[in-house]
Amino acid sequence: HTAYVNGTYLPEAEAKVSIFDRGFLMADGVYEVTSVLDGKLVDFDGHIARLERSLAALDIVKPVTKDELLQIHRELVARNGIDEGLVYLQITRGGAPGDRDFAFPDPGTTPPTLVLFTQSKPGLADNPAAQTGIRIISIDDIRWGRRDIKTVQLLYPSMGKMMAKSAGADDAWMVEDGYVTEGTSNNAYIVQGNQIITRPPSSEILSGITRTAVLRFAEEAQMEVAERKFTLEEAKAADEAFVTSATTFVMPVVQIDDVALGAGTPGPVAQRLRKIYIEESLKTAI
Ligand code: PLP
Repeated sequence: HTAYVNGTYLPEAEAKVSIFDRGFLMADGVYEVTSVLDGKLVDFDGHIARLERSLAALDIVKPVTKDELLQIHRELVARNGIDEGLVYLQITRGGAPGDRDFAFPDPGTTPPTLVLFTQSKPGLADNPAAQTGIRIISIDDIRWGRRDIKTVQLLYPSMGKMMAKSAGADDAWMVEDGYVTEGTSNNAYIVQGNQIITRPPSSEILSGITRTAVLRFAEEAQMEVAERKFTLEEAKAADEAFVTSATTFVMPVVQIDDVALGAGTPGPVAQRLRKIYIEESLKTAI
């Protein structure tokens, strides 16, 4: 497969960056994951808008234009024959040979690093996990306070995923002051009666691109949405729960810690939203 590194397309095994890259040394970089359905990019504009916000928050200069980014995404999708899957994009602050300093280098001397690759994921839309739903555990949210920036600083979410695995679950929800913040790599929702409840965007969570789209589709379908924090206790007593992300779309949650939700099977609201999300996303994918 072909990857992209700083202006060059090359075989994945030959795609390399410097050991002095601050992405490697300091997790000084940001990323985006855009899903591909039917060979087309889902919500590309949303992902690039968030990328620009992440870069601006860290004072990293965007190395190429949005049009060029679209062209690179499409080129990789075409070269790698991706029908269903994802495009991963990362931009780091770069780094000069021999340098390792906490202070940022002068942007004039160290250009940012731009890297993209694809992953083929047949069955993304027809995901069998959506039929059974996923089981989650709760863990403390001990991440830093700027979770709205999509940085590559992913060690704790990665550890959370491992804690879930060793507990025989699929994923973890993080909890701060009794309230659920989000999943390791997704936004969290509960359903009480007909109401969909999810935490409002703030520096405490990543504002999901899928989240924004799902809430819009829910409102268009006259479903009731409340953007507010919810506790872990409320979640365990909820009728349904689900998560959203670019690669899982809408994924029903059927168990939280030791508590099965509702009938222990995917709930009707989550299933309906998943269907709407996939149908609508396909219509606007580019
Ligand atoms: N929250 C976190 C911590 C994430 O890592 C992600 C995605 O990776 C999301 C939420 C969902 O964001 P999106 O819908 O843009 O994929």
